[in-house]
Amino acid sequence: MASIKHEPLAYRQPIGSSPSSPGDPLALPPGISSEKFKEYISRAKEIVGEENVTVISTVEELQKESYMEPSKAHDMFHVFDKEYFVASAVVAPRKVTEVQALMRLSNEAVVPVWPFSIGRNVGYGGAAPRVPGSIGLDMGRHMNRVLEVNESGAYALVEPGVTFADLYEDLVKRGLDQKLWIDTPDLGGGSVLGNTVERGVGYTPYGDHFMMHCGMEIVLPNGELLRTGMGAMPDPTQPHVDGGSLDEQPGNKCWQLFNYGFGPYNDGIFTQSNLGVVTKMGIWLMVNPGGYQPYLITFPKDENLPKIVDIIRDLRLAMVLQNVPSIRHILLDAAVMGSKTAYSSSDKPLAEEELDAIAEKLNLGRWNFYGALYGPEPVRNVLWQVVKQSFGTIDGAKFYFPEDIKDKNAVLHIRAKTLQGIPTYDELKWVDWLPNGAHLFFSPISKISGDDANLQYSITRKRVLEAGFDFICTFTIGMREMHHIVCLVFNRDDPDQKRRVHALIRQLIVDCAAHGWGEYRTHLALMDQIAETYNFNDNIQMRLNEKIKNALDPKGILAPGKNGIWPTSYDKAAWRLTAESPLGR
Ligand code: ADP
Repeated sequence: MASIKHEPLAYRQPIGSSPSSPGDPLALPPGISSEKFKEYISRAKEIVGEENVTVISTVEELQKESYMEPSKAHDMFHVFDKEYFVASAVVAPRKVTEVQALMRLSNEAVVPVWPFSIGRNVGYGGAAPRVPGSIGLDMGRHMNRVLEVNESGAYALVEPGVTFADLYEDLVKRGLDQKLWIDTPDLGGGSVLGNTVERGVGYTPYGDHFMMHCGMEIVLPNGELLRTGMGAMPDPTQPHVDGGSLDEQPGNKCWQLFNYGFGPYNDGIFTQSNLGVVTKMGIWLMVNPGGYQPYLITFPKDENLPKIVDIIRDLRLAMVLQNVPSIRHILLDAAVMGSKTAYSSSDKPLAEEELDAIAEKLNLGRWNFYGALYGPEPVRNVLWQVVKQSFGTIDGAKFYFPEDIKDKNAVLHIRAKTLQGIPTYDELKWVDWLPNGAHLFFSPISKISGDDANLQYSITRKRVLEAGFDFICTFTIGMREMHHIVCLVFNRDDPDQKRRVHALIRQLIVDCAAHGWGEYRTHLALMDQIAETYNFNDNIQMRLNEKIKNALDPKGILAPGKNGIWPTSYDKAAWRLTAESPLGR
């Protein structure tokens, strides 16, 4: 099969001018002529209805840059030119059979498709496709039902468009929110399913979303429908049909109860992958533990980090720390409570003394640990004693419950909701640290070890400061590791900042790889580079992924390039984005 060549930007319309032929998008799918594109669009309209197909032919779509009203067609936090990662059209199927028909059409026309659920994957590319001109498959616009909340089994079955806020509201409406809790990331507007397939995390004891999902329904690249785990066994009360509207059939009664079913466990290959479009997913809900107490512990000195981390490891592994707590750098909290100009008139990275002054002003530490206790009061009391005693060995540690802090904007009041699974939007504010604020996340995994965390902190901080940015980060603590999330905030209207932040994050990837630290997730622009660091035994993992990709999607139509995995129909070397890739035209 002939390779699809990267013709960077050649097929794109100059921004600001009118398309050369009416109906042309800003970016055509690679190798697809204007006529073929129009044919695809008219057939897509026959499948999903005219009103559910939007050709992205004007720059207006690119003006959408707000989390609350996210663009479905481009990366709102663009580190490249904002018209680089852009879809040619957005198609919103109304039901699973339409997704299947669209996959068949895309195979026939050899047009790449990029599925997303809500498109709020901010910091990692939002709704934008990796290959400019792909069709954005908007899974969330119509397919947004909570299909089931099972009280005794404590799980929900959701479609892609159900956000964390929606699921929470649904429980409230059913009068179940006091009994069943969800887990939410920092922001409540993302899709439960979308976040889980990206292996995102939240902060309750159910914080590892992929660990807590149970059963998926997936449309394969050829349009076939798969149910994983126990879902592979049909419900014997249902009529036997193959194909058709199988998606409407209730699943096996254990589909959302037991993840693994029989034989190889497949769910993992549909996460951070380009092997299927996920149309349903089960997620376990946490049963109200009978009591809850959020808390904050502040630590006064930058040098306290290693000791904090070593204490956390012992407590987390012993399950005294029951959830996914976080250690936040002072500037993350400061940014939630105000923009940089509220603290300094400097446009340089803030100095150590300035950070100390901010901590003092906000009555916070240089590091701030947000945790929670779960269970009936006597249980919480015992756990609290251990937590206090352990962290009390650090000089200057201070302990707070929400009622100790009057300022209603204080971060503890936000975390008090997040750590019991109540979605909020308050953490959006830290992106406004700089004017026209956007961010990239740099997210290496770290051992829960004082020495390792400290080394990773000092290496990343040094580079961030050298690049002229403020260092802002949080460590979220999993079962055996920490996700170190470095928040690279930049002004998206300042080309020099974009150039610097792009060079910076590429350097951070190199620095961390040299220490054996890899990232758990990344932005579209960096997928190739990070995938290349996971290169044990002559890249066997990538070779395996490519083999599976080519077997399941021989024409390479589903999300080519996602997480660095390119089908053979694409010339990988030409499509690879590197430090040298121009950020625009
Ligand atoms: P969020 O839930 O944060 O809004 P998105 O909807 O933007 O997240 O999804 C993030 C990424 O996850 C997408 O770019 C895509 O790679 C993947 N993804 C999301 N939903 C699906 C889905 N239904 N099927 C397959 N992949 C998906």
